[in-house]
Amino acid sequence: MLVAITGTPGVGKSTVSSILRKEYRVIDIHSYAEDHGLFESFDEEAGSYDVDVEKLNDSIMSEDIEGTVFLDGHLSHFVDCDKIIVLRCEPHVIYDRLKQRGYDERKILENVQTEVLDVILSESVDSGIDTYEIDCTELTPEQVVSKIGIIMNGEDIPDVTPGHVDWSEEMDEWF
Ligand code: ADP
Ligand code: MG
Repeated sequence: MLVAITGTPGVGKSTVSSILRKEYRVIDIHSYAEDHGLFESFDEEAGSYDVDVEKLNDSIMSEDIEGTVFLDGHLSHFVDCDKIIVLRCEPHVIYDRLKQRGYDERKILENVQTEVLDVILSESVDSGIDTYEIDCTELTPEQVVSKIGIIMNGEDIPDVTPGHVDWSEEMDEWF
C-alpha cells in the first residue's frame, strides 16, 4: 500500500512524516528525486528545479513496496498510489512558516495562493485516487498522525472528506 502525504509547502508533511518514519518506510520525494536523477532543468520563474513526475512515477513503481509505504512531498500525489492524504493549513500560518524558512516574498505568496485555491487538493481528486483531506491548523503533528491512522484503518471520520477545507473567504486578502 502506497500512501501519498501531499500539500502546499509548509503544511507540515515532513514533520508528520518524521513520526510515521518510526513505524513505516517513508520516501522523501525530494531526496529520492535527487538520488535517482529525476530533476529536470532549472525553472528560472519558480527559482527551483522541476521534478519529472513521469520519471518519478516510473521509478517509484519499480521499487519493492512491502507493507505500507508513505511518500512525503508536494508532488507525491502525482505518483500512482493507493491513497492520497492532502494536508491543509490556514494560509497565514503557511505564510509565517515559509517566511521563517527564508523564502522570498514572491515565492511565499505563490505558495499561499496555491493553498487558498485548493490546487493540490484539486490535482489529487482529479487523479481519481482515493483522496482525504486533513486540516492541520489546530492539530499537533501527533494528532495528524492519529487521523492518518484512522484513515488507514478504513474507519469513517467526517472531517477528512475532500472539499471540506475552504479558505475562499481569504481570497481578496491574498490576490
Ligand atoms: P512541509 O514538509 O509540508 O513543507 P514541514 O513539516 O517542514 O512542512 O513544517 C513546516 C514548519 O511548520 C516546521 O517549522 C514545523 O516545525 C512546523 N509544523 C509542522 N506541523 C506543525 C503542527 N502540526 N503544529 C505546529 N507546527 C507545525
Ligand atoms: Mg517537507
